[in-house]
Amino acid sequence: MRKKIVAGNWKMNKNLREGISLASEIVNMVDDEVMDDVTVILNPPYIHLESVGKLIRGSGKTYLGAQNCNENDSGAFTGEVSVEMLKSVGCEYVILGHSERREFFKESNEILARKVDIVLEKGLKPIFCCGESLDIREKGTYVAYVSKQITESLFHLDKEQFKNIVIAYEPIWAIGTGVNASSEQAQEMHASLRQHLASKFGSEFADEISILYGGSCKPSNAKELFAGPDVDGGLIGGASLKAKDFVDIIKSF
Ligand code: PEP
Repeated sequence: MRKKIVAGNWKMNKNLREGISLASEIVNMVDDEVMDDVTVILNPPYIHLESVGKLIRGSGKTYLGAQNCNENDSGAFTGEVSVEMLKSVGCEYVILGHSERREFFKESNEILARKVDIVLEKGLKPIFCCGESLDIREKGTYVAYVSKQITESLFHLDKEQFKNIVIAYEPIWAIGTGVNASSEQAQEMHASLRQHLASKFGSEFADEISILYGGSCKPSNAKELFAGPDVDGGLIGGASLKAKDFVDIIKSF
């Protein structure tokens, strides 16, 4: 049985006081209202991690994640944050390859492969984002494009390593736009990605990997999106900044 996961990506939003308040609202609601079989992950900005981590500790249902990391162990990389640092404040997950990192910070599939390696080596779990632009969607080559992202950043891993990967399919045209993929479009891509994983690792193994959908997911469309048999949850941006919306999305399962 693969894990159902809902992760909130706060991006560069909320100051520390606001972040603590949002996290404590979410943790309390999740503890009271959310089914035990859903894993909830909060991914606040780096400087909130320790404070949010303290709130999460003891929850049992909510976990801490970062939005990025550096691909090196340590050293002269001014302004960067290492996986060891993330681990030391209680992070268990790291989002990698978000389309904003790929676009604004020029992160390539090759760099992301190195980030995946160091995250796994330190015992954390990557939430690996992939997804196509509108242009590629309209050309009809989206399955090949997204499969290539997976191949180039993840297919050097063995099964033992890969079982710690969570995949997030996030069509770029749906991120922050208010226009979500339809449940059919999401299911089509998720099934194709699972097929792609099966071609490398076998279908039994591919069936165990959680594939999340991200892109304008909100309380009003989450139930429909999550109904796809290959959709195992969501990576939520804007709607994760309001405790009730985020928890309503989680409760859509
Ligand atoms: C995201 O950036 O990961 C995301 C899914 O954003 P939004 O939900 O705001 O579209």
